[in-house]
Amino acid sequence: MPHDIFLATAIPPALEIALAERFTLHRDTAPPTTRAIVGGGMMTVDAALIERLPELEIIAVHGVGFDGIDRVATTARGIQIAITPDALTEDVADQAIALWLAVDRRIAANDRALRMGNWTVPLGRRASGRRIGIFGLGRIGQAIARRAEVFATEVLYTARSEKRVPWRFVPDLATLAEASDVLILAAPGGRETRGAVDGAILDRLGKDGVLVNVARGSLIDEEALIAALEAHRIAGAGLDVFAEEPDVPAMLRRMNHVVLAPHQGSATREGRAAMAEMVVANLEAHFAGGELPGLLG
Ligand code: NAP
Repeated sequence: MPHDIFLATAIPPALEIALAERFTLHRDTAPPTTRAIVGGGMMTVDAALIERLPELEIIAVHGVGFDGIDRVATTARGIQIAITPDALTEDVADQAIALWLAVDRRIAANDRALRMGNWTVPLGRRASGRRIGIFGLGRIGQAIARRAEVFATEVLYTARSEKRVPWRFVPDLATLAEASDVLILAAPGGRETRGAVDGAILDRLGKDGVLVNVARGSLIDEEALIAALEAHRIAGAGLDVFAEEPDVPAMLRRMNHVVLAPHQGSATREGRAAMAEMVVANLEAHFAGGELPGLLG
C-alpha cells in the first residue's frame, strides 16, 4: 500500500506528478493515516493538525523555511522535518542582488516610465563602493556575501553567532543597520525575528540606505517601513516577501523607490527542479530507512 501524504499547500505540478507515482496524495483533508505532510516553505502545520495525525512521521518542505511548523509539537512526537537546502541558495542570493541593483539603478521605475513614452534620465545611485550588511549569514546570507564582495567596500553581517568568514561580524541588527548602506535580510522568520526591522532600525539605516528582504515578510514591521519610505527616511527598498502574502500594501505598490517581487527568490527552472528532486529524495530516504539529504538538524 502506498503511504498517505497530505499536501498542505499547492506544490509545482511536476513535483505533484512525481509524488503521485509513489504515494497516495490527499489535498483538502489529511486522513488519520497520513504518514507525511508536504508543502511549501510558507505552510502552516500547527499542534492541532499534528495531534489529529497519529501516524505522521515526516514533514517534507518544498523550500527551506519552516517557521509555520510547530517545532515543539514535532519534537515532542519525534516527527522529522526535511527541507531542500542548497537547491535554491544561489537563486535567492541572485534575487537579493538583483533587487538591490534594481532599486539603486531605478531599473523598474525607468522601465515603467519608458513604457509610458517618457524618456527621462533620473539619477540612480552608484552600486559599487557601498557597505553591505547582511542579517543572517547561513546558506543564503553567505551566497549573498560572496556576490556583495564584488561591489562593496565592506561586507558586514550579524547572526546568532560569529562565523569563520572574511566578513566583519557585528553583534546586533542595530549596529549592522548603522554601519550599512544596503541592509539585506536573510534570516529565518518566526518568533525570534518578528518585527526585527522597525522604525528605529530603519532610521539607523538612514536616508541613503536601501533595505532588501529575501527572507520573510514577518521580519519587517511593514507599517514602519511604509512610513520610513514615504518620508524618505530611507532611500528605497527591494522586497521579495511581504507580511500578508499575496497582499502587497497599496502604498508600497505606488512608490517608485520600491521594487516588488512575488516571493520569487527560488523561482528558477533549475532551482525548482532541484527542490522537487530533493523533496522526493527526502521522502524516499525516510520510508526506506536511509539518510535524508535535507534532514533538519
Ligand atoms: P540558514 O542556512 O538556516 O541560515 C539562517 C541564518 O540566520 C543563520 O546564519 C542564523 O544564524 C541566522 N539567524 C537565525 N536566527 C537569527 C536571529 N534571531 N537573529 C539573527 N540571525 C539569526 O537558512 P537559509 O537557507 O540561509 O535561509 C534563510 C531564510 O531565507 C529561510 O529561513 C527562509 O525564510 C528564507 N528564504 C526565502 C526564499 C525566497 O524565495 N525569498 C527562499 C528560500 C529561503 P546562526 O548561523 O548564527 O544560527
